[in-house]
Amino acid sequence: MAPHELKSLVRTIPDFPIEGIQFRDITTLIGHGEGFAATVDWLAEKVTASGAEAIAGMEARGFIFGAAVAARLSLPFLPVRKSGKLPCDTISVDYALEYGSDTLEMDPASVHEGQRVAMVDDLLATGGTACATAKLLRQAGARVEHAFFVIDLPDLGGAKKLEDCGVAVAALMEFE
Ligand code: IMP
Repeated sequence: MAPHELKSLVRTIPDFPIEGIQFRDITTLIGHGEGFAATVDWLAEKVTASGAEAIAGMEARGFIFGAAVAARLSLPFLPVRKSGKLPCDTISVDYALEYGSDTLEMDPASVHEGQRVAMVDDLLATGGTACATAKLLRQAGARVEHAFFVIDLPDLGGAKKLEDCGVAVAALMEFE
């Protein structure tokens, strides 16, 4: 399927989660079998070209795409979770949200020293989540140089923030 056809499968919900936000909803994209497969194909090609040896996905929608790509490529999948979810010893990183802050956690034993890990998520907005994830993965010893997204909102400057964080970005589609 062509990128413009995949873009037409993303649903836009106005005023979610708060008034004034146009929420780009991938539920309708993954609910379309051929569309989901083509999206995973695109991500898998990018991950392969990046030379990544493992994929990290951010809770929760990064799990949907990241895990599918990892299974397609027979690569390890590393879930980066919201705080308090993992039963093992964890390392964590705090990051700022528009209002307040949040925490991400991972199992440090899931990464080898120097392992090349690519990040996969549904959407890049300000880049705060992905930048914090890169820091967390690096704390565990990973080399993090690439992030792949289904959607980029370029007006929010996430690609620049990630570039400053030492991470190159590619996205399948953009929304203004
Ligand atoms: P960032 O940290 O500002 O780049 O925001 C990206 C994170 O917020 C990702 O994990 C997305 O899943 C989520 N997010 C922000 N805006 C949207 C949206 O419009 N649709 C879906 N997810 C969003």
